[in-house]
Amino acid sequence: MKTIGLIGGMSWESTVTYYQIINETIKQKLGGLHSGKILLYSVDFAEIEKYQADGEWDKSAEVLGAAAVNLQNAGADFIVICTNTMHKVAPQIQEKIHIPVLHIADATADALLGADVKTVALLGTKYTMTQDFYKDRLTAKGISVLIPDKEEVEIVNHVIYDELCCGIISPDSRNEYKRIIGQLKERGAEGVILGCTEIGLLIRQEDSPLPVFDTTVIHGTRAALASLK
Ligand code: GLU
Repeated sequence: MKTIGLIGGMSWESTVTYYQIINETIKQKLGGLHSGKILLYSVDFAEIEKYQADGEWDKSAEVLGAAAVNLQNAGADFIVICTNTMHKVAPQIQEKIHIPVLHIADATADALLGADVKTVALLGTKYTMTQDFYKDRLTAKGISVLIPDKEEVEIVNHVIYDELCCGIISPDSRNEYKRIIGQLKERGAEGVILGCTEIGLLIRQEDSPLPVFDTTVIHGTRAALASLK
């Protein structure tokens, strides 16, 4: 079994889910007392969030790149960055190490194509929704991406940083997300990417008018399966 190097803590609320999904997948595949070989480098999210807000992505790349080097030196066979947003600096992180980064958008694109979804709604942080680093990875595989309108982008983003990353799960916010997913369905989306690793804490399949593609589940499962290859 290969050793998975997790860069987590962004936020730690969703890193918990990664740990659970990886171990559950290994248990399901191998049975008995089997569990994943996992190294976790968990960062201080306050530091990373400040770099995001200030547009200092290079500084965040330094911190996460150093984490990746540490994981590599500790024996990780590949790296899993436990957040969609910070894949903005995945190329800089990859440059610092010789082991591969398992990209969250590639795993998500494969899941969408496997389900024959060609037009998809994307919910995530404002960086993930409005910038190109994530959407480009999907469109390169022939998937059209719809994002909410400006006002709704702010709502989705606010719920992530001020509630979900702080461990707050609000029924009102769940209703807002449902409403926004409904709007995207009317605009032609066939599925919705929960493109922030905390959204699965708020929205389950039964809450959504569209099939959900939860990036935490997709990425965590992919990591577990990759460790068994
Ligand atoms: N975990 C979130 C994501 O998947 C947001 C936190 C972050 O900015 O990294 O994008």
